[in-house]
Amino acid sequence: MPNPLLQTDDRGIYCAAGDFHIDPWKPVPRAVVTHAHSDHARPGSQAYLASRTSEPFLRKRLGKSISLQTADFGETVTLNGVRVSLHPAGHIRGSAQVRVEHNGEVWVVTGDYKVRPDPTCTPFELVPCDVLITECTFGLPVYRWPEPEDVAKEINDWWRQNASEGRTSIMFAYALGKAQRVLALLDDSIGPIYTHGAVQQMTQSYREAGVKLPATTYATGKDTSHDYTGGMVIAPTSAGRSNWIRRFSSPSTGFASGWMMLRGTRRRRAGDRGFVLSDHVDWPALMDVIDGTGAERVLLTHGDTAIVTRWLREQGIDARDLETPFARQEEDVAEEA
Ligand SMILES: [Zn+2]
Ligand SMILES: [Zn+2]
Repeated sequence: MPNPLLQTDDRGIYCAAGDFHIDPWKPVPRAVVTHAHSDHARPGSQAYLASRTSEPFLRKRLGKSISLQTADFGETVTLNGVRVSLHPAGHIRGSAQVRVEHNGEVWVVTGDYKVRPDPTCTPFELVPCDVLITECTFGLPVYRWPEPEDVAKEINDWWRQNASEGRTSIMFAYALGKAQRVLALLDDSIGPIYTHGAVQQMTQSYREAGVKLPATTYATGKDTSHDYTGGMVIAPTSAGRSNWIRRFSSPSTGFASGWMMLRGTRRRRAGDRGFVLSDHVDWPALMDVIDGTGAERVLLTHGDTAIVTRWLREQGIDARDLETPFARQEEDVAEEA
C-alpha cells in the first residue's frame, strides 16, 4: 500500500511527495502555515508558504526577514509536482485551510476554522476532499454557539451598564483575531475605546488591510493620569496579571471565549463576566463541515479527538485520531479560542 499523501512525523504533518510540512512544531525546510497564531506559526523554518493576507501577521510573529512565499486564496502552487492551494478558514484574518492534490487524490487540512460570520476576515469556504484533517477544539455536543449579534448585544449592554455606574470595562481577548472581532461588535456611541499595546499593534495591521473598526486609543504605559471611566479597554489576558491593569479605577472585567460556555471555566477565570465568542467551529458546525466536504476519511486533531472519532464511527464514517506528539497548554487554548 502506498504511503498516505499526508502523515505526521516528529516535526508535524508531512507530505512526502511534495516534501513539505503543514504547521510544523519544529523547524523544517519548507513549512506551509495556516495562520499566524503561535501554536501554528513557529519560528526557525527555512522557507514558508502562507496566504497573502496573513503576511503582515506572520512577519510580526516570526520576524521581518523570514523567507515567505505568499499565495492568494484559491491560487495553486506546485511543490515537487504536488498541487497546493489555500482557502479561507474564517478563523482570523488571513487564516487558511490547505488543500493538497496529488495523483487525483485531494486532502484538506483545516487549521483552526469557524463558519459563523465575522466581518474581520474572509468567510470560511467549504472545500470538497477525499480525506479531511480537521481540528475539533470544541468537539463535544455541549458546544453550540449563540448568534454573534446576541453576544454583541450582551457585551454592549454590559459596557453601557458599567459606564452608567462610573466604571471602566476591561475585555480580555486574544490580541490577534479575537480582539479585532470584539472591536467590530462594539457600539462606540457608548464611550471611548482603549487598547493595550499588543492589541493596538495587531489592530493597526487589520486597519491597513482595509478592515473597518471603530476608533481606538492606545492606553500607553506613560500616561498614568488619564481618566478611563466609562471607557472600554481591550487587552490580552496576560495584561490582567500585570501592573498595567492598575491604572483603571473600579474596573469590571469580561472575557470572550468559547470556553465561557462551561461554568467551571468561568469560575476559574475569575472575571466578572464571560461572553461566549469563539473563533472555532461548535459541534453542529463541525458535523456540517465534515458532511459537506464529502470526505471518505476524517482525521481528528486538537481537542477531544477520541470522543469525536467514536461519534463519527457510529455514523459509519471512517474516522481516526491524527497522532501528534504535540499537546497545548490549556491557558494558550483558552486565550485563543
Ligand atoms: Zn488559531
Ligand atoms: Zn490553534
